[in-house]
Amino acid sequence: MQKNFQEALQDPIFKILTKASKDLNVDAYVIGGFVRDYILQRGTPKDIDIVAVGSGIELAKKVASLLPNQPKVSVFKNFGTAMLKHGDIELEFVGARQESYHRDSRKPVVEDGTLEDDQNRRDFTINALALSLKESSFGDLVDPFDGISDLENKILKTPLEPAITYSDDPLRMMRAIRFATQLKFQIALPSLQAITENKDRIEIISKERIVDELHKILASDEPSIGFSLMHKTGLLPFILPELVALQGIEEIEGQRHKDNFWHTLEVVDNICETTDDLWLRWAALLHDIGKAPTKKFHKKLGWTFHGHEFVGSKMVYKLFKRLRMPLNEKMKFVQKMVLMSSRPIVLSEDFATDSAVRRLVFDAGNYVDDLMTLCEADITTKNPKKQKKYKNNFKIVREKIQEVEERDHVRNFQPPVSGEEIMQTFNLKPSKEIGIIKEAIKEAILEGEIPNEYEAAKTLMLKKGKELGLSLA
Ligand code: ATP
Ligand code: MG
Repeated sequence: MQKNFQEALQDPIFKILTKASKDLNVDAYVIGGFVRDYILQRGTPKDIDIVAVGSGIELAKKVASLLPNQPKVSVFKNFGTAMLKHGDIELEFVGARQESYHRDSRKPVVEDGTLEDDQNRRDFTINALALSLKESSFGDLVDPFDGISDLENKILKTPLEPAITYSDDPLRMMRAIRFATQLKFQIALPSLQAITENKDRIEIISKERIVDELHKILASDEPSIGFSLMHKTGLLPFILPELVALQGIEEIEGQRHKDNFWHTLEVVDNICETTDDLWLRWAALLHDIGKAPTKKFHKKLGWTFHGHEFVGSKMVYKLFKRLRMPLNEKMKFVQKMVLMSSRPIVLSEDFATDSAVRRLVFDAGNYVDDLMTLCEADITTKNPKKQKKYKNNFKIVREKIQEVEERDHVRNFQPPVSGEEIMQTFNLKPSKEIGIIKEAIKEAILEGEIPNEYEAAKTLMLKKGKELGLSLA
């Protein structure tokens, strides 16, 4: 029996689409993500892809002319596509087409085609589902590859031979892994094999596109699904070799270290339970990357990763640069998290003195909560007793942070005595003495020798000035 999904097309915009396509005598269909997400009950998406068996651009213009406010149509002539916005809905129009590819590019040679041609060039059967906008068959599902069963069985298959689909446009390999992660679907075995065989073709894809997919994987509930698939198919070395280098367990003289790759994936999944912040999730992914280059075995100490936080934070810059990610404050945030990633751990292992906590807050500034979130996610021990103990230790550190912060206000520390005032007091020009006095005041506050208050700081300034042989103005 013909399946019908009229109920997905209740928004008045669909009737207008039907009228426009009738006026132009061009058949039109809703296709792709909208249909998929509707059937999966992921809500009614606001991005709607329309395929026209004829000119997508003409159809877009016709639709715009029928809408009360006549929205602007953005035309991308080279791609044969057009876009318009209607309220919070974004409509994308494309003419049905046939594509053929050259080996060294993902830009196809494009010819007009039928609906079926167009469905053939789609990446997955579940993304090739189309709903008719024709009056006589409004809402009828057109599903030549039985994508509906694949939706039910939670499986990603390509409409055509997988080797061809992935080799034609290797971005689809990343899309497969991304959808598998977002939707918790399996990638069909022949697809998985084809991805493995075509993995090096990922090199013709721009870094920006790859990073888009990485962001979507990291924004999912369980990013480890995506990263382990990238690992399994051999794509990961092309994209994040720093992570691959963390894989493996070495044993010398009966001493082993943990596998830091699988550990990292657990940390990422953990942090996704407590934060949606994409960049904090990146920090979790990269927090241990310095461990590969710093790994050493010592007869007495066993395995060490001395200074891995510093090395790791330097690697973050190179990694962001290579992937053409922004080298802005987001990157600096990730670097800071990596650099400081062990600090709360050290505190939690021992009795945390007030001054140690003040220093942590001083150094982490506004990011101290994020840092604690990262460290809590870093607990991956399977021993329930230890797990409970570590969690409780961090809880104590968090309480101390709050206590110290309420009393001493060292987060976003502002010196209680300004450089200006030091200069005036001792009649100084800009000079190194000013720095020495400021540093002494800051140190005394962090150490708890004086409170973070003006009078106490001023007294210390006068004392230090005397020690330095300065005379009052
Ligand atoms: P989402 O918007 O959630 O990322 P989507 O399926 O809508 O998912 P889009 O990138 O918006 O993905 O693309 C819309 C449709 O275009 C897809 O459903 C698919 O049919 C097709 N498509 C997109 N990219 C490709 C590609 N690289 N190869 C083949 N078909 C593609
Ligand atoms: Mg979409």
